[in-house]
Amino acid sequence: MIRYALICQQGHEFESWFQDSVAYDKQAKRGLVSCPHCGAVKVEKAIMAPRLSTTAKKRAKSVDAPMPASEAPPVSAPAPAPVAMISPQEQEIRTKLKELRDHLTKNADNVGAKFPDEARKMHYGETEHRSIYGVASPEEAKELSEEGIEFHPLPSLPDERN
Ligand SMILES: [Zn+2]
Repeated sequence: MIRYALICQQGHEFESWFQDSVAYDKQAKRGLVSCPHCGAVKVEKAIMAPRLSTTAKKRAKSVDAPMPASEAPPVSAPAPAPVAMISPQEQEIRTKLKELRDHLTKNADNVGAKFPDEARKMHYGETEHRSIYGVASPEEAKELSEEGIEFHPLPSLPDERN
């Protein structure tokens, strides 16, 4: 027995069993193979073509379906989405940090290791208030903060940590 996928002249698809291919040819020629939907006797072997096209459609759909950006071919996605989403934000923050840092270093005096002393002098009114920057050890920073002296860590940029 052989099963054929058949299609009638109206485009109805159906399946039918035959003894063999010769039996099908004979029956089809005699008009013994009729469409179960419309009764048309003019039918052809679909030869799995409709099924293949269905599979092709399904394949095409699965290709169109959202894919993880990392798996997307580089041709259709020049910039992987996650990187494109995050990188500009990081770049923006980094730019702002750099601006702040540049502003500080341009407008403040670098007092280096004397920062705790200088900060203390300003805090207690020994010298005039001005912007300064420098370095402070964790203990010094703790002492300054306990004395109520307000200061901020100078932002470091990601590429300077390496
Ligand atoms: Zn039909």
